[in-house]
Amino acid sequence: MVDFELTPIMKMAREFTHNYARDVMRPISRKYDEEEHVAPTEFIQKTHEMFTSLGFSFSTTKAGGGSKEDDAESKGKHDRPKMEMNLLGAIATEELAWGCPGLTLRIPGPGLGGAAIMAAATPEQKKRFMKILNGPKPSYGAMALTEPGFGSDASAVSTTAVKDGDYYILNGTKIFVTGGEMADLYVVWATLGKDMGRSGIKAFVVEKGNPGIKMTRLEHKLGIRASDTAEVVLEDCRVHKDNLLGGEKKEEKGFKGAMQTFDATRPIVAAMATGIARASYDYLYEDLVVKGGLEINYGKAIHKRGYVETVFEDMEAKINAARLLTWKAAWMLDHGLPNLKEASMAKAKAGTVVDEVTQKAIELYGPEGYSRRHLLEKWMRDAKVYDVFEGTGQIQRLVIARAILDYTRKELK
Ligand SMILES: Cc1cc2nc3c(=O)[nH]c(=O)nc-3n(C[C@H](O)[C@H](O)[C@H](O)COP(=O)(O)OP(=O)(O)OC[C@H]3O[C@@H](n4cnc5c(N)ncnc54)[C@H](O)[C@@H]3O)c2cc1C
Repeated sequence: MVDFELTPIMKMAREFTHNYARDVMRPISRKYDEEEHVAPTEFIQKTHEMFTSLGFSFSTTKAGGGSKEDDAESKGKHDRPKMEMNLLGAIATEELAWGCPGLTLRIPGPGLGGAAIMAAATPEQKKRFMKILNGPKPSYGAMALTEPGFGSDASAVSTTAVKDGDYYILNGTKIFVTGGEMADLYVVWATLGKDMGRSGIKAFVVEKGNPGIKMTRLEHKLGIRASDTAEVVLEDCRVHKDNLLGGEKKEEKGFKGAMQTFDATRPIVAAMATGIARASYDYLYEDLVVKGGLEINYGKAIHKRGYVETVFEDMEAKINAARLLTWKAAWMLDHGLPNLKEASMAKAKAGTVVDEVTQKAIELYGPEGYSRRHLLEKWMRDAKVYDVFEGTGQIQRLVIARAILDYTRKELK
């Protein structure tokens, strides 16, 4: 059933996160962009307390989510079966990214690591690790997949995991780990042996303080500078076999588990991109239309419209398209439907839209748009990474093409 109506809880969450983004995040957004690598400690603590008191968690769920009480609440006139936590997460994330995408990535919670745990862990592991990530103190789960030798081709993992009794010994270097400095646990992808191919790739949860894992460098970045991105080195890092995600017997889960993580996280990343695009659009609309007196007459024939009006309409259509694809991908996950193609479509679309809209906004704003007195130039810098991390735009298009044409990974590279 197609239903575009948000539940009362979703509307409330949207309004609440929007106000939080406007009142708490926007005012400090420029500060943490300029002071890269300074941890927004006060913001992290405050946000953690606020979300904890509301019982709101950013964990993604593989299929469905929410409690029986949630079901009872949401079974109203639309008879929705679930609380739709992934959709709720996408709605809230768009608002938070509207406030500041870098700070959004600093919000404590399961993070990318948590998403990998939800996708690939055993029930016992989920319970154990989510307890840490949703615990009383602010904590964060990072995902360490990318290495100096690869990014897009995840099957090229070269960090090694060698069995030693009840332990695995990990060795390798992971780069561009989001939250790599603040993380309390890392989901580290390693291979049991290159000759085993994809089936040898496994994910291990390595907790902070485990001897042998250390953060060696923080990146200086173009955008999302409030977010910490780190290099993490593993040197003879001993991890108990109980921390191998999915357990030792589930041979097939390793690489597939990594890929399933993206089904849940790509819609969230797309929601962030949509939020940034909307931030630029809203800023422009407020200044040129609300304050500046520009009229956008949606009923006018195309040949009677001015250039700026057309650009506004185009931006609005693109943002809506990105949002609808995002909501659909998240909604499918909530309802236990395979969403690989839709998650990639949302990510590909939103990653392009955010670049186009933020650049167009600067163009329309004139030289002022280039000045640091406005956040427009920051949003343009923040935008770029949304077509890079969680799989580049090209990789999303490859995934979509394979799904549409029914090709395997081998048939279409
Ligand atoms: C700010 C930031 C945060 C990040 N956070 C994380 C994180 O938390 N955890 C993590 O593991 N990684 C993270 N990454 C890494 C990110 O996921 C990779 O950068 C990304 O997957 C691309 O990999 P690459 O940079 O190695 O590019 P490459 O794989 O080297 O690709 C280079 C270019 O070639 C294109 N290309 C590659 N293969 C193909 C193909 N088959 N067909 C068409 N085009 C292709 C790509 O699209 C890209 O444009 C982060 C990166 C950044 C910048």
